[in-house]
Amino acid sequence: MKLLSVIVPCYNEEENVPYFYEEFIKNESFFKEKEIDWELLYVDDGSKDKTASEVKKLHEKDERVHLFSFSRNFGKEAAMYAGMEKSKGDYVVIMDVDLQDPPALLPEMFSYIEQGYDSVATRRVTRKGEPPIRSFFARMFYRMMKRISKTEMMDGARDYRLMTRQMVDAILEMKEYNRFTKGIFGWVGFNTKWIEFENVERVKGETKWNFWKLLLYSIEGITAFSTAPLSFAAVMGVLFCIFAFILIGFIIVRTLVFGDPVSGWPSLVCIISLISGVQLFCLGIVGQYLAKTYMEVKRRPIYLLKEEI
Ligand code: UDP
Ligand code: MG
Repeated sequence: MKLLSVIVPCYNEEENVPYFYEEFIKNESFFKEKEIDWELLYVDDGSKDKTASEVKKLHEKDERVHLFSFSRNFGKEAAMYAGMEKSKGDYVVIMDVDLQDPPALLPEMFSYIEQGYDSVATRRVTRKGEPPIRSFFARMFYRMMKRISKTEMMDGARDYRLMTRQMVDAILEMKEYNRFTKGIFGWVGFNTKWIEFENVERVKGETKWNFWKLLLYSIEGITAFSTAPLSFAAVMGVLFCIFAFILIGFIIVRTLVFGDPVSGWPSLVCIISLISGVQLFCLGIVGQYLAKTYMEVKRRPIYLLKEEI
């Protein structure tokens, strides 16, 4: 018998917890046929509603359901890490509790693992039901990441992924505090099969992400997997030096030929504000990396458990 660990991060999802279980066990006959045992690890990411007690109810019915409760909200990245750390399975799959990662895809995903792939990842080909601005910026983000990072990141990739133990152990080796799992999956490598599906809207409740959170998360992704912005700051410095030298030459020649040393106050103001803007921007980029480094060197734990069943 092989064991499959299913990791389900939940944050204020009391309505979806039982729903997910029902959908998931529809695969029971498939698991029996393939001789796969499973454990369902709900990671309660500091929910303020009845998420934990809903999971406990399921645990009383079915011992294969487990609960890991955080002491506060640490974020989905931390929940996925905790799940992987606690998982015992030969295979591990991460799924959203809102059923946006259809459990019905599992048999297909297993067929690729049987063919020898180390991991089967999913991406949605449509972004139906998502605000257009959000889709636009998401696409921009992936296009930019393709250019500035060597790590492979797919547009529309979800965290829904089936992996072998070997790959999960590799991911657990990466103990960074600022986690961007989509990049980490790509960074560790291994043979990955991508399967595509149409976007599904969440069954109940609301998304935990707003535009601002996503923007901050994308900065996380950029600083974690690329140093291109730092090079950009350096290049800007060189460009402005060249610009300044040309300007010095121009002004010397103009003064010698026309003898007009004082005019040019408006242009001076424009140049000063432009250059100080660029300077602050570049300083901000350096600051971002410094802040991330500061958080890393503190070596704080990625999550704290309050309860474990
Ligand atoms: N989630 C979490 N911690 C958080 C935010 C979200 O564990 O701080 C979980 C959430 O319960 C869900 C999954 O992460 O199972 C995806 O969240 P959501 O559906 O809100 O994101 P979306 O699908 O809109 O990208
Ligand atoms: Mg969702």
